[in-house]
Amino acid sequence: MRIYLLLPLALLFSCSTVKNSNSNAQNASQLIKDLKELSSDTYQGRKTGTKGAELARSYIVKRFKSIGLKSFASLPNYEQSFSFKDMSGNNVSGKNVVGYIPGKTDEVIVLSGHYDHLGVLDNEIYNGADDNASGIAGLLKIAAHYKKAKPNYTLVFVAFDAGEQGWKGSSAFVAQPPFNLAKIKLNINLDMISHNDKGQLFAAGTYKFPELRKYIVQSNPELRILFGHDNPKQKVDDWTNQSDQGAFDAKNIPWIYFGVEDHKDYHKATDKFENINQPFFINAANAILEIVDNIDRQGALQAVFREKVQMKKQ
Ligand SMILES: [Zn+2]
Repeated sequence: MRIYLLLPLALLFSCSTVKNSNSNAQNASQLIKDLKELSSDTYQGRKTGTKGAELARSYIVKRFKSIGLKSFASLPNYEQSFSFKDMSGNNVSGKNVVGYIPGKTDEVIVLSGHYDHLGVLDNEIYNGADDNASGIAGLLKIAAHYKKAKPNYTLVFVAFDAGEQGWKGSSAFVAQPPFNLAKIKLNINLDMISHNDKGQLFAAGTYKFPELRKYIVQSNPELRILFGHDNPKQKVDDWTNQSDQGAFDAKNIPWIYFGVEDHKDYHKATDKFENINQPFFINAANAILEIVDNIDRQGALQAVFREKVQMKKQ
């Protein structure tokens, strides 16, 4: 009798444990899968205006659809087209990929990262695994999470084109957002989050908006979040305009930029899947999700916004 009674209980416990660890492993493997896919040779380094970039965009659109992100009526198929002149004066067209999850309020957090990279140079494919397939994979992870757990803020996910051409996609986005720009309370930008051997991830942006600092905490002792790279007085060290958050900064929108220090593979053909640090990447993506959740749950942006208004008055 005892054996019969205990057996179903034991089965129940073992099943639920297995289920939990399975779903964690699944989340991690989807994160790795997205990075691996986008940094594969199929996409030929994803340079803006090339077939490779178009294929990368199709992959991101497919993932937005499968996650269940909504698209804005003015941007069918999630795509926002823009054009710009490149360094040689040629007209180039680019396309951002934009989707969203409605929150309990129409105030917006924009989560972003650029999907383009350097393409093919001297017959070598620059796969841009860390820069910035990693950021896009991170965005997709956050999107999948909030599709299941409704956020308080409306979360807008943007994969920018033409980052490597001088942040043209983010400039086009803030110049013509598919909703009122004033609704954006915060930009969280991900650019290079998979390659650091010291377990260090930077969260820049709190120099201007120190109120954000208390929300930038996470529970994994294997990862250290560092502040810095955001003081405009330290010109060389200041990353404010070194990625797509610069376009938001120019509109006086608070931002947090997550990324690593430059590494040996930065802007080299060796920035490929084999050279990222997978445990670090998984830890970094989990930490960023935890921080987004701190901000979303605690309504942090009210305080930040008040501070911003005060700063303007000074
Ligand atoms: Zn980048």
